[in-house]
Amino acid sequence: MKFATFAYCFRFIDYLILKNIYIFEKFCHLLYAVSVFRVIRSFLLCGICLVGILANVEGAHIVRKGDTFYSIARANGVSVQSLMSANGISDASKLPVGKRLTIPSKVSQASVSKKVNVSLKATSSPRRSASKSKTVIIDPGHGGRDKGAIWGGVRESDLNLKTAFKVKSYLQRAGYKVVMTRESDRYVSLSQRAAIANRYRNAVFVSIHYNAVRQTWVHGGETFHAGTSASRYLASSLQRNLVSKCSVKNRGIRYGKFSVIHNTNCPAALIECGFMSNSRERSRCNTSSFQDAAARAIVAGIERWDRSY
Ligand SMILES: [Zn+2]
Repeated sequence: MKFATFAYCFRFIDYLILKNIYIFEKFCHLLYAVSVFRVIRSFLLCGICLVGILANVEGAHIVRKGDTFYSIARANGVSVQSLMSANGISDASKLPVGKRLTIPSKVSQASVSKKVNVSLKATSSPRRSASKSKTVIIDPGHGGRDKGAIWGGVRESDLNLKTAFKVKSYLQRAGYKVVMTRESDRYVSLSQRAAIANRYRNAVFVSIHYNAVRQTWVHGGETFHAGTSASRYLASSLQRNLVSKCSVKNRGIRYGKFSVIHNTNCPAALIECGFMSNSRERSRCNTSSFQDAAARAIVAGIERWDRSY
């Protein structure tokens, strides 16, 4: 009896040990499974992080002589504003040669574009589109008693107005609101022209002229700005398009002390499409086809600036 009890107890203890080993084994299997799951999860997280890092990796650009924010932004497919904000720069005129600029990634650029588009209540296109919400003030230079330059019987005020009408037409076709400072051969003072522009809040001002100097061999197109970064980029964009679309010599952009672009509150530029004092260029400028090309260039310049600034 005693032996039977002992045997029973022994078997019971044996059973308990086996049972516990079984439970322990299952527990180990569970721990192992949990560990494997954790390792896989860690790998997945690392992969996701790596993809994120690679997607957000930012390039750099060392500023060379002749570089502008506009040219760097254009070359890298980013906007001037995102380039400036990525580098903590507020004044676009300060761009020292040799400076290392961080190029914002396309991912962050897309998110910036998305924010801009949302704020403009536009469609969520990944590429920033021109807002078209701006009012474009087109200022045909001179008029009335002020004929501007007169060479070979051609009056600058007439060329300016003809070109301006074409600009107006193309801008309206592109969806912009357009205001002209004059629509006939009448005199409008410089202060009146600026006052017209200053009636509009979200506006951009472009004054259209043709050039003249005593040195009749001088030719080409040039664009003046009012000194602000927005005006500089506007002038740069207009000039770039004028040169490429009208095949005129590139005389570049420069700061101009014209009251009409200084007294306007909005970004403003004054474009000189060609030289009337150069007989060859005058003949070209006096054709409808040249004025049409100049108008297309001005509109493309405004659109480009509107998209990228
Ligand atoms: Zn003029």
